[in-house]
Amino acid sequence: MVYLDYAAATPLDPEVLKTMMPYLQDQYGNPSSIHQKGREARAAIEESRTTIADFFGCTPKEVVFTSGGTESNNWAVFGLAETLKGRGNHIITTAIEHDSVLKPMEQLQDRGFEVMFLQPNKSGIIEPQQIAEAITPKTIFASIIYANNEIGTIQDIPEIAKILHEKNILLHTDACQAVNEIPTKMADVGADLMTINSGKIYGPKGAGALLIKENTNITPLLFGGGQEFRMRAGTENVAALVGFAAAIKKIQPEPLKTIRLRDHFIEQLLKIDGVTLNGHPKMRLPNNINVSVEGVNNESLLVRLDMEGIAASAGSACSSGSIEPSHVLLALGQTKEQAATSIRFSLGKDTTKEQIDKTVEKFTQIIYDLRGTKREQTDKQ
Ligand SMILES: *Cc1c(COP(=O)(O)O)cnc(C)c1O
Repeated sequence: MVYLDYAAATPLDPEVLKTMMPYLQDQYGNPSSIHQKGREARAAIEESRTTIADFFGCTPKEVVFTSGGTESNNWAVFGLAETLKGRGNHIITTAIEHDSVLKPMEQLQDRGFEVMFLQPNKSGIIEPQQIAEAITPKTIFASIIYANNEIGTIQDIPEIAKILHEKNILLHTDACQAVNEIPTKMADVGADLMTINSGKIYGPKGAGALLIKENTNITPLLFGGGQEFRMRAGTENVAALVGFAAAIKKIQPEPLKTIRLRDHFIEQLLKIDGVTLNGHPKMRLPNNINVSVEGVNNESLLVRLDMEGIAASAGSACSSGSIEPSHVLLALGQTKEQAATSIRFSLGKDTTKEQIDKTVEKFTQIIYDLRGTKREQTDKQ
């Protein structure tokens, strides 16, 4: 099987699983309990928090665990809106956010907030200048995705943060796709709140965090037992958090190697008739490839690739199983028809050049089959 869908899910690293096992078996204590088993579970959580804080260059108090990216994004958006609503009702975001930011923003619109969805240029870049122009006296915060999950474009978050901070406006960024691939130290990124998750970095699914810079006010997410600094109540998922930290410890970005593979892949794909690259050629995640295939429906393409043992994606994993036109590609100015021809390949630690070459070969054949043309007649090579 050639797995090229690491942006949707990464395999659980076997060493990470090993660190989790005790907490799924003998170490079942409630971290809030006074006795030894409780204290040991508490220690494991706090050690995990410190590991994660070190990685992102923040303090342990700035790491609040959640159940993943979706929860962190929902919390950031709804929490900041609730906390800051006395100051204004204007919020800045983009048309290319992950659904877990986009949908909460739409909810806020229904509740009387004015949300500005910035449109990217044709390569998927939001110019910092657009942020400057979008700010009004009523702007209370902005949420801008760091690296896009579909087309891989990387935004200039440090510059965007600078512009917002000059006006005392908070910035949240969704960094789920960035953590494995590009620098994510809090001080360098510049955001006040940052969403991260475990299931995209070879850790267990269902764990994540919202990193919240000290002195940033946000209403608690869940009320109850007072866990997570009274911000997110509920008995902690100890094993998952231990695994999350173990996965963070193992992150070793190999940008040059990944970029070489990516660019080789893109180069081969672009040799096929009617194949074009979506997103920015350079300002993109080292592991992201997203192409449109003229005249070919992506659902048919994915099914045929799957039959050949190749796992790819239509852009983002969709819970319904059916593919809807990507809001990201529509925001780039594509028509629904064009957007329905896009395929995303995302690379991971185990991806090899051989796998890529095999994929290109099968992909080319399938495209010609689906178009009903003979390969020799149209192949540019
Ligand atoms: C996967 C992903 C999410 C959602 O994370 P979950 O942990 O699956 O809830 C949010 N944002 C981005 C950019 C993602 O890639």
